[in-house]
Amino acid sequence: MDKVVSLCKRRGFVFQGSEIYGGLAGVFDFGPMGVELLNNLKRSWWKANVYDKENYYGLDSGMFKHPRVWDASGHTSGFSDPLSECRECNTRIRVDKELGKIGIEADEKMSEEEINKLFDENRDKIVCPKCGQKNFTSVKAFNLLIKSNLGDFTGEGSEPVYLPGEACQGIYLDYKNIVDSMSPKLPFGIVQIGKAFRNEISPRNFLFRTRELEQADTQLFVKPNQNKEAYEQVKQDRLNWYLSIGIKPENLRWKQHANLVFYASDAWDIEYNFPGLGFDELEGIHDRTNYDLTQHMEFSGADLRYTDPETGEKYIPWILETSVGMGRMFLAVISDAYHEEEMDGSTRVVLKLHKDLAPYRVAVSPLLKNKPELVEKAREVFKLLKKEFGNVAWDDNGNIGKRYRRQDEIGTPACIVIDFETLGQEKPELKDTVTVRDRDTGEQIRVAIADLISHLK
Ligand code: ATP
Repeated sequence: MDKVVSLCKRRGFVFQGSEIYGGLAGVFDFGPMGVELLNNLKRSWWKANVYDKENYYGLDSGMFKHPRVWDASGHTSGFSDPLSECRECNTRIRVDKELGKIGIEADEKMSEEEINKLFDENRDKIVCPKCGQKNFTSVKAFNLLIKSNLGDFTGEGSEPVYLPGEACQGIYLDYKNIVDSMSPKLPFGIVQIGKAFRNEISPRNFLFRTRELEQADTQLFVKPNQNKEAYEQVKQDRLNWYLSIGIKPENLRWKQHANLVFYASDAWDIEYNFPGLGFDELEGIHDRTNYDLTQHMEFSGADLRYTDPETGEKYIPWILETSVGMGRMFLAVISDAYHEEEMDGSTRVVLKLHKDLAPYRVAVSPLLKNKPELVEKAREVFKLLKKEFGNVAWDDNGNIGKRYRRQDEIGTPACIVIDFETLGQEKPELKDTVTVRDRDTGEQIRVAIADLISHLK
């Protein structure tokens, strides 16, 4: 994990939020390379979940929502994690996760009483991560919602407007608008990537657990009781997508939830083998019955029933949800792509990212930057490729070996070098050809500039 974190900083992928002020826990910034990888991931995810499907609709809902939304969803009363504090040094721990580390099944859905009992039985095995003592307070449920003062000008607002604790609520709120405006037939999906905020007790492990996050959600609306087969398909589609973007199959596995919330019919996580953490939740896939729409119908008074166009029957659809944090996805993808290997007599770090995800499609270099005729020709090629691919790097810093290593670390699939042969000065038959070097094999071939775009494509 340390190596991935260090590469992310060194090469402009991820920075600690507010770093020059000493940092803000649980908040990260995506730098120039990070934002490209993140956007490519979002594009690939969107394509798989909207364009490659039929009857799936995109949405971008407002972050702030009516205060009652979080009552209806159960977040004001039940969106909490079990917290205990070290009496010696005031470090806070998330008790279910600490129990998990010593092999005891526990989760945030347990009652305070249940988790206190488990904690008390195992106190001798849980040590404070900071001071090493075992002197903890009893466990309290700590609500993760973060309040804002939106519209509260006196500071006395009794009904705070919360920052979203999860992104998917926007989908339930606009479900009726989408049915009315798009007339979809069941089964249909609504898809959104949106920000969420959680007062995580101990944000840690880099992008794995942050306080500000982004979630990519799909909600598939199906006829009542027609959930089982569709759920299996949704699960399979999501696993296949990770494989399609090049994640190694041995680093992915399924985990079924042992302890379901009362309304859920089934819940599985796709786990990834995070470096230094081991297998942990990457994405949640939940069979949520008709709970969400029923709750919002009751709390808002709006009729959220679907009218079957064939029978005229009215019913509340059931929902199959997939939800993944973009940060966790980013961490899984970059960790999976990270390799250290021997090449040309030294060890190189290379990000073997899927070529569609790499921040730069290709890098262009003049062999020497102090030879104007090489630079001029290289700029020509650079402009040609930039027009076609957009994200193309101009790299004339250091010698060619250093440039290759730098682009390897960023994951650039191909490097192009314009040399004297390109100018036809040494071998006339090689005029207007360039060297193309492959990131993964290091192999170099000559390609005519006229064929470059089709070759790279
Ligand atoms: P965990 O048990 O790890 O706290 P969760 O079960 O609360 O996660 P969900 O509420 O189901 O997670 O959220 C869906 C997805 O959002 C998760 O699978 C994960 O990818 C992501 N996610 C949730 N909380 C965080 C966080 N604090 N930081 C980064 N990603 C998160």
